[in-house]
Amino acid sequence: MKDCKLPLRLQKFEALLRSVEDNHWQRYEILKEYNKWMQGFRGEESVMFHLDPISNEDYRIYHDIRLPLGKYYFQIDILLTCPRFILVIEVKNRMKHWHFAKLLNQVTVDGKRTKNPILQAKVQSTKLKRWLAEHHMTDIPILYLFVNSNEKSKIHIDYDHKYSRSVCNSEQLLEKIEQIENQHKIEILDEKDLRKMNRLLLAKNTPDNTNLLQHFKMTSEDLMIGVRCNSTKCNSQMRYHAGTWTCTVCKVKSKTAHHQKVLDYFLLIKHSITNTEARTLLHIKSRKIIYQLLAGMNLPCTGSSRAESTTKPTTQ
Ligand SMILES: [Zn+2]
Repeated sequence: MKDCKLPLRLQKFEALLRSVEDNHWQRYEILKEYNKWMQGFRGEESVMFHLDPISNEDYRIYHDIRLPLGKYYFQIDILLTCPRFILVIEVKNRMKHWHFAKLLNQVTVDGKRTKNPILQAKVQSTKLKRWLAEHHMTDIPILYLFVNSNEKSKIHIDYDHKYSRSVCNSEQLLEKIEQIENQHKIEILDEKDLRKMNRLLLAKNTPDNTNLLQHFKMTSEDLMIGVRCNSTKCNSQMRYHAGTWTCTVCKVKSKTAHHQKVLDYFLLIKHSITNTEARTLLHIKSRKIIYQLLAGMNLPCTGSSRAESTTKPTTQ
């Protein structure tokens, strides 16, 4: 019901990496954080792949759902709904040695203490229960699982651990779901309830819309001006003349080189752009050319006067 697409946060990271110079002071930090999020996303992607065989049964599967609850939001990596139960899945994709100790319910990764992902999943399930109650949905068992998606990591869980049933590797996930199935055979929600829940989840889902510039203590001045060549390792300035962008160094040509730049602006700065802003961004003096370039991108426009005319992206 909600596919595994590159989350908005990662799209923003990619836009930012395209927009700062190779030697920018924050580039290393941006890349480090991007890689961390990306690794997590790859893990979720692989778990979604493992769920594919049951996707045409009576399960509805949602990737990356973020819902408002009180003043805050809670996020669920993968959510499964069916007439009999709901399953909240927390995915980790770290090539590490996990140890789940019985004592104090402590978790260590490569010897260092870390957040307990089983408890994280449990907390999300409790929040989901509250959220569903707030929206007057029928009470239904909500189960939770921590799924390790990394084949190279090792999980050690103490004998007789309270939560030992709430952990599995991704290859084992379908088997786990089968076990849950066997314990929850009573149908509580009918198709109408599930459709209502589906509508609610999709309508209330609010992707994390962090301003990355603020997050990395940067301003729009940190971003490169003008359109850059996207040939491998070139990244030189491109010049626009008579309908075509030409790289000043490798001479590669493009008619659409500005598209990415404008879309990145929407991801990093704001959801609309005026003709004046686009002139600075693309480093083109002519208002008329900017008008033509933006019009050629088929973006919805607002405003009638020349000064007010803004363009908004269709996606987002
Ligand atoms: Zn070039």
